[in-house]
Amino acid sequence: MNDPNVDPVELKKFSDLAHRWWDPNGAFRPLHQLNPVRMDWIERHVPLAGCCVLDVGCGGGILSEAMSARGAKVLGIDLAGKSLQVARLHALESGAEVEYRAISAEELAQEQPAQFDLVTCMEMLEHVPDPARTIESCARLVRPGGTVLFSTINRNPKSFLLAVVGAEYVLGLLPRGTHDYARFLRPSELARGARASGLEVGDLTGMRYNPLTQRFSLHRDTDVNYLVACRRPS
Ligand code: SAH
Repeated sequence: MNDPNVDPVELKKFSDLAHRWWDPNGAFRPLHQLNPVRMDWIERHVPLAGCCVLDVGCGGGILSEAMSARGAKVLGIDLAGKSLQVARLHALESGAEVEYRAISAEELAQEQPAQFDLVTCMEMLEHVPDPARTIESCARLVRPGGTVLFSTINRNPKSFLLAVVGAEYVLGLLPRGTHDYARFLRPSELARGARASGLEVGDLTGMRYNPLTQRFSLHRDTDVNYLVACRRPS
């Protein structure tokens, strides 16, 4: 149970690309494109001003900084040290007051249980060996009455075609090998993990990419990218 819930091969992929985190046209372009859309969705669920937020798997801080800019007090955690270095440097330049730590969600859940008003875990579950454990750690980290927001990629033939073949091989939006189809998670699987961890599962919303406008938008279609809002009962 205490073995680390981390895949070193996955972390290396992110470390190797760490210098590209803030290049809007680089390896993480889809995250830059997703960011405004998911920020709107997040603020529908939780007012960010004054909110104490934990961002699990924060990478270079694209989401962490955006939440901080809207008035949240943000701690970002990740296990890819190089990404955290980039995140800290970028915060120095931008003036964002985000704190970053290299610690796993599992360890932080032991150190600071029930401390956060909001826990975000976005585009990260599809990179860990045991997503149910990450979900459980998020549930332990949020305070009673607080919110946990997840996003990940669904697992079905359409998501394989669009998120792997389309995004990595046809459109070249992401480096080849970014995503392992077998690790994609169905909304029902995510919801099962959340409920097993004592969370109430609420809103499920899709995000659709339009290759012509090169924009994401919120959508009823959850076949590929989707967001799930959960609440820890008071
Ligand atoms: N959440 C950010 C970055 C998503 S990329 C965003 O949406 O903009 C996925 C991130 O998860 C990478 O930064 C990677 O280093 C991190 N990650 C992968 N496995 C992890 C683990 N076990 N613990 C913490 N972070 C992890």
